[in-house]
Amino acid sequence: MIIMDRKYSFSDVYNTGIDDDKLHEECGVFALFSRDNHDVSGLTYYSLYALQHRGQESVGIAVNDNGTIVYHKDMGLASEVFDNVMLEHLKGQMAIGHVRYSASGAGKRENLQPVVVKYKRGQLALAHNGSIVNAAELRSKLEENGAIFQSTSDTELMVNLISRYRVTSSSTEEAIQKMMNDIQGSYAIVVLTTNKVIGIRDPHGIRPLCIGKLDNSFILASESCAIDAIGGEFVRNVNPGEIVVISRDGLQSIQTEVPVESKLCIFEYIYFARPDSVIDGVSVHRARIEAGRRLAIEHPVDADLVIGVPDGGTDAAIGFSRESGIPFGYGLLKNKYVGRTFIQPNQALREVGAKIKYNVIRDEIEGKRIVMIDDSIVRGTTTRRIVQMLKNAGAKEVHLRISSPPFRYPCYFGVDVSSGKELVAAERSVSEINEMIGTDSLAYLSLEGLLKTPIGSAFGFCTGCFNGKYPIEIPKNENEFDNK
Ligand code: SF4
Repeated sequence: MIIMDRKYSFSDVYNTGIDDDKLHEECGVFALFSRDNHDVSGLTYYSLYALQHRGQESVGIAVNDNGTIVYHKDMGLASEVFDNVMLEHLKGQMAIGHVRYSASGAGKRENLQPVVVKYKRGQLALAHNGSIVNAAELRSKLEENGAIFQSTSDTELMVNLISRYRVTSSSTEEAIQKMMNDIQGSYAIVVLTTNKVIGIRDPHGIRPLCIGKLDNSFILASESCAIDAIGGEFVRNVNPGEIVVISRDGLQSIQTEVPVESKLCIFEYIYFARPDSVIDGVSVHRARIEAGRRLAIEHPVDADLVIGVPDGGTDAAIGFSRESGIPFGYGLLKNKYVGRTFIQPNQALREVGAKIKYNVIRDEIEGKRIVMIDDSIVRGTTTRRIVQMLKNAGAKEVHLRISSPPFRYPCYFGVDVSSGKELVAAERSVSEINEMIGTDSLAYLSLEGLLKTPIGSAFGFCTGCFNGKYPIEIPKNENEFDNK
């Protein structure tokens, strides 16, 4: 396929660290099986645009054109990788798409998704959000038997397992069920075969996946906002452990195993998902408002103005304001045109880079006692810069309230904090962090409070990064394998 000519390679760009207080979701997935003659690549492109917040490193689309799978994937945003000419080359009746973020995988083109292969039973494309914790062990076993891998990704491992099992199975679904018996971890997967689209969610439902409809056609997406973006209608969530098979005949569901306790990643509500998405029946916006409301009850403060750190802290700030009666205002501005990566500046320009990302509206801040709401603190460096900006703009006091508990433990399920050492709260008390970032007071929402924020949810939640209790046992050698 055509590789777009880019002015800069990915080794020329790097994360400036100005967004380094945020966690980064690994990926977003999308699939469309059209039974209505839609422009599938165009609709997939727009849906990936809607999922771009889940990954900005690379993007890819694979399309099935009458049984032949064609694809294009590259580093960059959807708007950079695809144009009209490229989308014209990707005509077909069904498609899957993927957006990806990976800190450790930066520059590894072989890890781009979807992974597309030819094998004994035809062609297959697969895109994945999540992380397989026993990937190293499974990969090693396959290599002992002569398997060759071109990448370090879990996705290639899964494709390898499915294609092997497919040789002795009567259908791709059967091969997928066998693969699911082998793999442990978080996964929301979309698969494109020569005649079907298949969606899979791990037995704990750690990563989200939902089903939508567009006329007589079916959609699968990480978040409902991608269904809304193309005028579709949300139907339901894919259940934990469910395989959804979409073909010309419609949608068929296979529930693979006795459901284990569901453990959706609670960070989907805190930060990852878009506020206009509904995940497992709960509005993300509403959950964030509730988190702010509970934060105001747990940790009240005398102040003149509530502001949110955009974008993740804004909804919780509104909730805090409603509960406390302190007026809400827009004291911080985020430049929406700054991506996660910049052309490498020299040291002198680093601080300028930070100011480009956030700026203070002095008129709102000056002379006031500010309560600032953010969704989380990961490393603390950006928070410290923002606090300093507020004080420089004349804030009398800055009180920080965080709408989640301290992030103390690494995540093994597809979020890019893999080492506890990176986390400001791992070995510091709240008062030590308060001192480090220069706030007048600091308080976090309790875990008990947080778990009440997805109001009406029928699901349990993974809270591993807050309490070190993970839904799946983490193999000791997990960190030795680059599973990104
Ligand atoms: S450890 Fe934290 S970030 Fe990772 S899946 Fe669990 S709740 Fe989400």
